[in-house]
Amino acid sequence: VKPSGFCRSGAEAMVANICLHMGEEPVIIGDSGACNVFFSHCNLQCIFCQNHQISNNAVVNNGQPMTCEQIAERIIPHLEKGCKTLGFVSPAHFSPHIKGVMKALENRGHQPIVVYNSNGYDQVDVLKKLEDTVGIYLPDLKYASAETAMEYSACGDYPQKAKAAIKEMYRQKGSTLRMLDEHYAESGLIVRHLVLPGHAAESIELLEWLADECSPLIHLSLMCQYTPAYKACSHDILCNTLQKEEYEMVCRAAENLGFCRGWTQAFTSIGHYIPDFDQQQPFQD
Ligand code: SF4
Repeated sequence: VKPSGFCRSGAEAMVANICLHMGEEPVIIGDSGACNVFFSHCNLQCIFCQNHQISNNAVVNNGQPMTCEQIAERIIPHLEKGCKTLGFVSPAHFSPHIKGVMKALENRGHQPIVVYNSNGYDQVDVLKKLEDTVGIYLPDLKYASAETAMEYSACGDYPQKAKAAIKEMYRQKGSTLRMLDEHYAESGLIVRHLVLPGHAAESIELLEWLADECSPLIHLSLMCQYTPAYKACSHDILCNTLQKEEYEMVCRAAENLGFCRGWTQAFTSIGHYIPDFDQQQPFQD
């Protein structure tokens, strides 16, 4: 059967890469990195996607079809080298496979900390099914306005869906990050927000929502690493890089709203973290 939905994915998991990644938040990479499973295709199609080589749904057969056993097989060497966290990246359209992979790992004596690294466009009923499996939710909270979400990600209902998903993640995990040891978190919620050029006001609106509807005690990862990529290079606003003043304005707003846990980025992060999925090791950082 030919995959026909938005994400052009069938019942079989399509995997772009499984590799060690050092570029996540410190409590996720600990001292030995996270093993990330990068799924192919995506349930959004952002015009600025840095992972467009693997997320583009128009590319048929993007990635490699793999069974849960085969995915587990590729993960195990990383776990045997001391990696404690296992990140599933862009997992929404392959969420049933997460449990299958974890079962296969458990049968082989491994129980890594599961990180659900999503764009936030997740269904609440799916998240409920993952409650016992996921250790750390690592969702994006991208847009406050339906217009921006439609223009940049072809997804007008992103704000309402992502807010409902994050509320569910917060219900499950609360605002406390439970630590396994001094290096690794084993359970909790970290909300990521990438500040986009020209959209500081929208960023602040999202932070206000997060503080009001969840809690300012949530761990927040406020990112400035935006770099024009893919179709954004020819977009009149997104072709720009973020101004330092814009990022500082959002960081100040976060502080004023009471956010005190989490991470900001050095402004020198711009231009870093751009992967090349044609390489076996896509991340240089
Ligand atoms: S959600 Fe992330 S991976 Fe998916 S298209 Fe957007 S930027 Fe790319």
